[in-house]
Amino acid sequence: MDLMEKLTVLTNSAKYDVACTSSGADRPGKTVMAGCCHSFAADGRCVTLLKVLMTNFCIYDCTYCVNRVSNDCQRTAFTPAELAELTIEFYRRNYIEGLFLSSGVIKSPDYTMEQMIKALEILRYRHNFWGYVHAKVIPGASPYMVHRIGLLADRLSVNIELPSESSLRQLAPNKEKKAILAPMQQISIEGSQSRQELVIYKKAPKFAPAGQATQMIIGASPETDYQILNLASAMYKKYSLKRVFYSAYIPAVEHSLLPAPDTKPPLLREHRLYQADWLLRQYGFGAEEILTPETPNFNPYLDPKCNWAINNMHLFPVDVNRARLDELLRVPGIGPTSARRIVTARKNGRLGIAELKRMGTVLKRAQYFINAADWIAGAGTGREAAIRALIDPKVYSFGPEQLSLFQENPGIQKLPSAEDVSSVAEAVEETVLCLRKNL
Ligand code: SF4
Repeated sequence: MDLMEKLTVLTNSAKYDVACTSSGADRPGKTVMAGCCHSFAADGRCVTLLKVLMTNFCIYDCTYCVNRVSNDCQRTAFTPAELAELTIEFYRRNYIEGLFLSSGVIKSPDYTMEQMIKALEILRYRHNFWGYVHAKVIPGASPYMVHRIGLLADRLSVNIELPSESSLRQLAPNKEKKAILAPMQQISIEGSQSRQELVIYKKAPKFAPAGQATQMIIGASPETDYQILNLASAMYKKYSLKRVFYSAYIPAVEHSLLPAPDTKPPLLREHRLYQADWLLRQYGFGAEEILTPETPNFNPYLDPKCNWAINNMHLFPVDVNRARLDELLRVPGIGPTSARRIVTARKNGRLGIAELKRMGTVLKRAQYFINAADWIAGAGTGREAAIRALIDPKVYSFGPEQLSLFQENPGIQKLPSAEDVSSVAEAVEETVLCLRKNL
């Protein structure tokens, strides 16, 4: 097989791995191309990466994966020199700014890691390539290999894959929870040591300076959003992860334990998880505030912050001229930037609606939850009006598997009522009943 054929096969095999900021399933209005993805470098730049596998041979049999040993597909592998050559040539032509390197497991985790490390060593030391590299750590690899690859890559990731140990046992029988968490722990410790050393010695070796990430597949196993979010929150705390990437499961395999092949990827659910994840990282929310065992799944109509606000109306309104930063951050329509601007600007005088607007507050949402110099929350319009104003317009753009019911059936095009959106289960059930009646 020539190099271009290998590249086609191995970029195609890599496209289901979403531990980067783009790729995954086709989204409305977006086309997913194999071969490239985007990531944020340690200095915050968004960089285009060549996204490829070292090999799509794999000795493991993860039920959900197209590269599993029992799948009959075209297999190939790069040699380390081939991969390094290809990357540097693309880099010189300005097609890419870095490399996202993953791999199937060939012979053993350590052997696979050795191949990846050799490719990165050629790239770094022979071709003098110092662009961004995101490398996957193979679960089960020895600490020595994790250490070596950490000194070559900017970011590392170990995929947790499934949100519970029982699902992992059922769908990825060759992977053990311990083999996934041990390298995560090592990366967290070595990364932190390296950052401390760099403060003292400018030339100390850098270990994964852009930190570590992980990926979780959503919808292949029965875990609730509550379980998934709690796991993500625990991993952020324990392993200092930079990001958890959520990947809507794309049915590629027929199996009794997996959703049917014609099931659409749960894109709205994936979107809600990213929104909730943002609340954990940027807004100071705890996972237990966003979802509870009693309401374990996201409201499809409201984003998680609006849903929290609607269910905690007793905490509002907040006075923008007095509230603490953390209280402002809880108001729908106020983000971290506008919250900080409000705290700074009010030192010079009381703020009214016009000033808030200038500072980036989305008044369409915030008006129901704030008092300002010239504004009283909601102005008597009530909770129903607030809910209608907060309904997420993206609900209607996530494809027919989720809420296209509204788009396709003129009989139920009206917006859901306040009761509908107060309870996810009720809202969805009622919509489905409506649809059945209309069919
Ligand atoms: S280890 Fe599992 S998920 Fe990774 S390539 Fe092999 S079969 Fe696929």
